Amino acid sequence: MSQNYYCKWCGAKYPSVSSLTGSSCPRNPTKGGRHELYEGSEKSQYVCKYCGAKYPSISSMTGSSCSRHPNKGKHEPAL
Ligand SMILES: [Zn+2]
Ligand SMILES: [Zn+2]
Repeated sequence: MSQNYYCKWCGAKYPSVSSLTGSSCPRNPTKGGRHELYEGSEKSQYVCKYCGAKYPSISSMTGSSCSRHPNKGKHEPAL
């Protein structure tokens, strides 16, 4: 059994937390920031914590702007 770890900003998949957090993330709102661990479980559908929009993957969700995001950012997956 191997577990996958996902970045909450871009949905990139890694085999370990250390490899995930060791790489820079193109969608981290902090410029030059690294991938950050999505702490929810792997799902068939992800829901935006601000607006409730549903997406089949974190990467498709975080690529779209969220109309209810407090800083006019992208959708962010709820846990
Ligand atoms: Zn990332
Ligand atoms: Zn949203």
